[in-house]
Amino acid sequence: MTAQFERVALIGLGLIGSSLSRVMQREGLAKHISGYARSAATRARAIEIGLVDSIHETAADAVKNADLVILCSPVGSYGAIAQEIGPALKPGAIVTDVGSVKGAVVRDVGPFMPDGVHFIPGHPIAGTEQSGPDSGFAELFANRWCILTPPPGSDPQAVAKLEAFWEACGSHVDVMTPEHHDLVLAITSHLPHLIAYNIVSTAADLEEVTNSEVIKYSAGGFRDFTRIAASDPTMWRDVFLNNKDAVLEMLGRFSEDLSALQRAIRWGDGDALFSLFSRSREIRRGIIAAGQDTASPDFGRGARKS
Ligand code: NAP
Repeated sequence: MTAQFERVALIGLGLIGSSLSRVMQREGLAKHISGYARSAATRARAIEIGLVDSIHETAADAVKNADLVILCSPVGSYGAIAQEIGPALKPGAIVTDVGSVKGAVVRDVGPFMPDGVHFIPGHPIAGTEQSGPDSGFAELFANRWCILTPPPGSDPQAVAKLEAFWEACGSHVDVMTPEHHDLVLAITSHLPHLIAYNIVSTAADLEEVTNSEVIKYSAGGFRDFTRIAASDPTMWRDVFLNNKDAVLEMLGRFSEDLSALQRAIRWGDGDALFSLFSRSREIRRGIIAAGQDTASPDFGRGARKS
């Protein structure tokens, strides 16, 4: 396959940035990958493990002559980065990102994009609870969806080029507005993380159950929440600060449904509980049928010695 881009710049070399680098290298999507990360330690590590062809002391230096620039740092850092790289961008370059919210990215990055640069926000719906340059792997995006939110008036050719890039990374691509993205992700990703963070913190605060019991008996369900609640605190702080309205809307609905469940338990309404749990089971089956998770019992962990 001929390279889709001469030069791709990755700003941020953590889980997502390093996974992109690995899949680009495997598929030969870029002739040159330049990179920037905030700390000298990550920049050194990126060279050491061969994530990039060149590493730069500043984001502005990293994007020089790049045909594709991908912001892969926490969403809260985008505004300052956009301001810094704006004047250094090559005319005709595509600038995209991988941030978990989209409305705030349009707000923070858009104003700094010069005329003649194609700014097309994006979000791969793929991830793990790991972070840092060593956590990435080329298969992360395989069979996962990537959502693009091109602003009105975007160049169709630039959008098509970015779609082809994500498809070459193994993803399926959907296009929608930033507002719709933020609403959908509030329920499919942001609220589950908030609930996981909250249940882990509630358990940690319990006085009548010791911490060692929480850990010892975690296979009863708790440990599956702890995986999500181990996600990067900076990334998730920025998600909630930048998708406030949609998250509060979904949280309101969630609280109402939780109250209904509470009432069903209080009044011994087994039919209500059974019908809700049955519906949830169908949703899980739908996710497996769509190839978005494994059907193996216990997420394929297999039997373990206790
Ligand atoms: P990560 O593993 O923590 O990596 C973040 C990278 O950004 C690191 O290289 C870090 O550099 C750099 N960085 C942090 N703050 C910076 C700043 N102020 N200026 C410049 N660079 C900075 O994070 P990640 O999981 O790859 O997430 C990156 C983005 O992907 C986020 O916007 C997130 O919303 C989005 N996303 C994440 C997931 C997921 O599951 N993790 C899924 C989809 C999308 P240092 O190492 O030097 O600190």
